[in-house]
Amino acid sequence: MEYEVITSAANKDVKLLRSLHERKYRKQTGWFLAEGMRICKEAISLGYAPVRLVYAAGRGDDAMVAELIAACHQNGGRAMEVAPDLLSRISRKDNPQMVIGAFSQNWQKPQVIVPQIDDLWIALDRVRDPGNLGTIMRTADAVGAKGIILIEDCTDPYSLEAVRASMGAVFNVALVKMSEADFCDFSRNWQGAIIGTALQASVDYRAADYSKPTIMLMGNEQSGLTERLRDTATQLIRMPMQGRSDSLNLAVATGVSLYEWLRER
Ligand code: SAM
Repeated sequence: MEYEVITSAANKDVKLLRSLHERKYRKQTGWFLAEGMRICKEAISLGYAPVRLVYAAGRGDDAMVAELIAACHQNGGRAMEVAPDLLSRISRKDNPQMVIGAFSQNWQKPQVIVPQIDDLWIALDRVRDPGNLGTIMRTADAVGAKGIILIEDCTDPYSLEAVRASMGAVFNVALVKMSEADFCDFSRNWQGAIIGTALQASVDYRAADYSKPTIMLMGNEQSGLTERLRDTATQLIRMPMQGRSDSLNLAVATGVSLYEWLRER
């Protein structure tokens, strides 16, 4: 097999891949980075081939790397062998993974959210922390949720930090963006439950009704849910706090409520 080999940090493909650390360039290209064999293989098994693939020099004949290269080529992408220091530059890590892929983002339209029995969606109000968002994608995938609705200005699910924390779940949960006003309009016609989580709620999360198609609505890390979003909820639940902390971390609170939903399945 003939390989494309890149040795210079000034190479335009290296520059392009490095630029994907910035939201502006992810938006411009519609691409994002995913690192590591496991995540790249997971992507391919779900039907996403990398548009670009870089891998450590000398590893092109490893069976698993060869599989990724083949999937990349079959879909019209380009695979390139690079020196280890270039992998570090692209991933901005001292110990980079052996492969890094650039993939196309896959945003869904709000029309994909339909109230089917046993369907679960998670709506996040202005989530700020990429680690939280990645962890929530991972947990959403773990409980079999359909996807995540990102309300207003959220952190980017396609940032490298969020993708890393998602452990590949970014490829398996639908991602939908909505403004707060659109979510409020949408909620009026939603034939299911919207379960808001809020510290002020009086219903214990174990007493809520999870029998309908559900949207679990979670608040911002600092300020919680806005009043307007709280008003869209058909039920508001809280998780008891026994100690001195006044709230749970957003990703933990999401995990607790999603697993209560799953316990009732
Ligand atoms: N100071 C914020 C407030 O007043 O809501 C705390 C926000 S908390 C860190 C982030 C989100 O996690 C909340 O908006 C809510 O969705 C959820 N959450 C955290 N702890 C909770 C609890 N004990 N009960 C219900 N929801 C909780």
